[in-house]
Amino acid sequence: MRRHFRNASIIDASGAPPFRGTVTVDGTKIAAVTRSPSEAPIAPGEEVIDCTGFTLLPGLTEAHCHISFNNLTSIYSAVEIQPEDHSLIALSNAQLLLRCGFTSLFSAASAKPRVDVAVRDAINRGLFEGPRIRAAGQEITPTGNLGDLDTNYMTFPRTLRFSVACDGADEFMRAARLAARDGVDTVKVNVSGDRDWGHMHADDTVTVITERELEAVMEVANARKLMVATHCSSSAGVKMCVRQGVPVIFHAPHADSEARDMLESVKDRVFVVPGAGFPISMARRQAEFGLKWPAEKIDALEREIAIFTDCMRDLHKRGVRVLPGGDYGAFITAPMGENARDLEIFVDMFGFTPMEVIVAATRHGADLMQSGHETGQVKAGYCADLVILDGDPLADIRIFQNQDKILGVMKDGRFAKRDAALSGAMADPVRKTA
Ligand SMILES: [Zn+2]
Repeated sequence: MRRHFRNASIIDASGAPPFRGTVTVDGTKIAAVTRSPSEAPIAPGEEVIDCTGFTLLPGLTEAHCHISFNNLTSIYSAVEIQPEDHSLIALSNAQLLLRCGFTSLFSAASAKPRVDVAVRDAINRGLFEGPRIRAAGQEITPTGNLGDLDTNYMTFPRTLRFSVACDGADEFMRAARLAARDGVDTVKVNVSGDRDWGHMHADDTVTVITERELEAVMEVANARKLMVATHCSSSAGVKMCVRQGVPVIFHAPHADSEARDMLESVKDRVFVVPGAGFPISMARRQAEFGLKWPAEKIDALEREIAIFTDCMRDLHKRGVRVLPGGDYGAFITAPMGENARDLEIFVDMFGFTPMEVIVAATRHGADLMQSGHETGQVKAGYCADLVILDGDPLADIRIFQNQDKILGVMKDGRFAKRDAALSGAMADPVRKTA
C-alpha cells in the first residue's frame, strides 16, 4: 500500500534546513519526497495522512544501547536473571525503544552471550516487531577490570556474567572467536578501567590491557568483518584504539590533546559515544529515585561530567562524529525508554545545535549501523524508518522525551506507533491524479 505523509515539515537529515512537502511510502521504502508546492501524484485507494503542523524525520539510532540491562539496581542484578527470562526482557526493551523513535540500536554489550543475537534474529525473522539491532556479546575484559565479578571465593558461571575475564592475547582471541561463533555483529572490549572499579580507574594514563591483547581481538574481528567497540575512558586507551583501528570508542572523557588529534585524524572512520546520560543521571537524579549518596561521590561524578563535557565539545568542534547513546537501563537513575535525554544533553552541554544532534542521531547513527546507504535519511529509495512529531524539535529538542508528542514511528514501512492524529484517509477514487 502507498501512503502519503502530506504537508509535513521534513527534516531529511542531510543537514539542510527543514522544508515542507510530502513523503510517499510504498511497501518498506520511501518512494518519493515531494517538495511543496509540487504535489505528489496520488492514485485512488492510496492513503493520505495530513501532517500539517507535524515534523517528519528519520528514525533515531541509540548508539550505546544495552537492551539486556533492565534498570539495574546493582552490578549483580543482571546476573540473577535466568537466560530465558532475560531474552524476553531484552525484546520488550527493544520494542519500547522502537516506540520511543529509536528504529536502530547499536549494542554496547549483552548481559549474557546471545541475548542480543536472539532478539535481533527473532525480529529479523519477522517473529516480533522491533528495531534494527547490531548485536554484541558480553564485554571482554582483563581480569579484575570492569565487569569481572569473580573473587577468590566466588566465581560466576561464564555465561551468566556480563563480562568474560581474559588474560593474554590467546585468551582475548578465544573470547572474540566465541562471540563470533555466537553470531554477534560487534565485539566489545574493555580497554580502560572505570570509576569505582578498584584500582583500575577511568583516568589512568596507562591502559589496563596490552596492545597485543587488543590487536588479537582486532585480528579476529577483521577476519570476520565484525566491528569492535571499546569501553575506553583513559587517554592512553584512546590512543591504543586509534592505533589498532577500533571504529567505535565509548566514553573517551580523558582523551588529552594528542589523543584528540589522533581521533580527528581518523574522523571519517571513527565514532565516539560518550555515554553521558548514565553518569549525569547518577549525579543529578538520585533523590528522584530515593538514593542518597555521600557528597564526595557526587563531587567525583560532577568532576567527571565537567571533564567529558570539555572533551565532547572539543571533539565535536573538530568534526569527530560524536553520537548520542547513554547506557540507559544500566542503572535505575537512567531508566530504559528515557534515552532521548541524551539529545538534550548534547544541545545543552556539548555545543550541538538541535539540527546537529538530529543529524548525529540519524545519518551518523545509520553510518554506525553500517546501513548509511539505506537508512538514516528521508530520501527516495531509503528504508521507510520514520518518526513523526507533533511540533518542532529544532525549537525544543526535549520533544523526543514526550511520548504524547511522538505521533508515529515507522520501521520498514510499518507503523510501530500510530497516534489517532495520523488516522489518514483513502484518496477519493475520483481524485485527479497528477
Ligand atoms: Zn555501557
